[in-house]
Amino acid sequence: MNTTVVKFGGTSLASAAQIRKAAAIIKANPSRRFVVASAPGKRDSADTKVTDLLYRCYDLASGGKDFTPALDQIRARFAEIIEELGVEFDLDKELQIIRSHLENDPQRDYMASRGEYLNSRILAKFLGFTFLDAAAMVCFFPNGRFDANRTDALLRAELAKTEYAVVPGFYGASDDGRIHTFSRGGSDVTGSLVACAADASLYENWTDVSGMLFTDPRIVKNPHTISVITYRELRELSYMGATVLHEDAVFPVRKAGIPINIRNTNRPEDNGTMIVPDLPADMQKRIVTGIAGRKGFTSVLVEKSMMSTEVGFGAKIMGIFAANNTPFEHCPTGIDTISVIVNSAQFREKKEAILQQIRHELQPEYICVEGGLAMIAIVGHGLVYAKGSAARVFGTLAKAGINVRMIDQGSSEMNIIVGVAEEDYEAAIQSLYEEFC
Ligand code: ASP
Repeated sequence: MNTTVVKFGGTSLASAAQIRKAAAIIKANPSRRFVVASAPGKRDSADTKVTDLLYRCYDLASGGKDFTPALDQIRARFAEIIEELGVEFDLDKELQIIRSHLENDPQRDYMASRGEYLNSRILAKFLGFTFLDAAAMVCFFPNGRFDANRTDALLRAELAKTEYAVVPGFYGASDDGRIHTFSRGGSDVTGSLVACAADASLYENWTDVSGMLFTDPRIVKNPHTISVITYRELRELSYMGATVLHEDAVFPVRKAGIPINIRNTNRPEDNGTMIVPDLPADMQKRIVTGIAGRKGFTSVLVEKSMMSTEVGFGAKIMGIFAANNTPFEHCPTGIDTISVIVNSAQFREKKEAILQQIRHELQPEYICVEGGLAMIAIVGHGLVYAKGSAARVFGTLAKAGINVRMIDQGSSEMNIIVGVAEEDYEAAIQSLYEEFC
């Protein structure tokens, strides 16, 4: 039988009603053998995630303040879930362990992990599945770095012995017994690790949206959902601001060639977005898969005659940015010019030092710093094959009266990146959406 690993996010497990929906999804397909669970998230926009309540408890306890009201809020969240689901679970005993931890030696990651721990134990009871504690299988080094090899070996061994199980997301432990967590949203990463160790044929990531949108819904009204996207396209769009999964969740499954399916717990009838290694044959003609962008960039243009024949000029300029701990985003070059596009917030503090070093070490004829830029990535494997796609991008922007300040056709050959003034950003996205959607 094929194995599907299913991960449910915080909103999908935020209440007993949501847990019932998740359980129905799990039980609808016997291949859904391994479930990775988040802590209860927000039930509505005014609500607080259990993980945030746990962090609050830790902050109060470590500051010597009274954490009881915050712990009571956590108690109330779980008590309601347990009661409404009708499962037998000794919540008082678990909360007593957490309380004495807070009183004696509060640890931040341990506290943060308890949301996933408790929710997974309750869910396992409700489903009749085995509970497998991530602390025994997801390994970290004592310094908090994740140990991928040992994790895979331990997870593989445990999963091979188990038919149906719930594994809490987000955390693991080092050999000294100390709990460590991934960064926020890290249950996605656990889901990916479990999918690899189970040799799953599919990793379903259940959330509260029906997949990844073609572009930002805050700019374009009701953009359509991307039905299929490759890992590489996803990476380009995520980097430019389209977020749907924790970044570190993609790498393990991508390496193993396991597709990810983003699905909506509230609309299980929707197919969601499939993230795959290669596009199916009938989709290879698709030109644009998605459009994403970000504001907040600055361009540093440096001009020097005969620059292109001066060996190492590019390395020197990049070296100056690197020495000042300022990563660059793009670097279009001309014959005697080079522009370095950087994040404005990162550049701001280092601006004077960088400019001074460029003047001193490179002796340029002209330097121009221009802030207030937005970058837009038009992403799709088809861009490279379709004749005239660049003309369509620039024609569309010209028709909308938008001046293109920078162009970069990524060498991955599946994106065209354009820089526009920040005030033109929304109009540019809107017009490109209308052209390519
Ligand atoms: N509960 C954790 C968080 O809120 C991890 C997760 O949900 O993925 O970040």
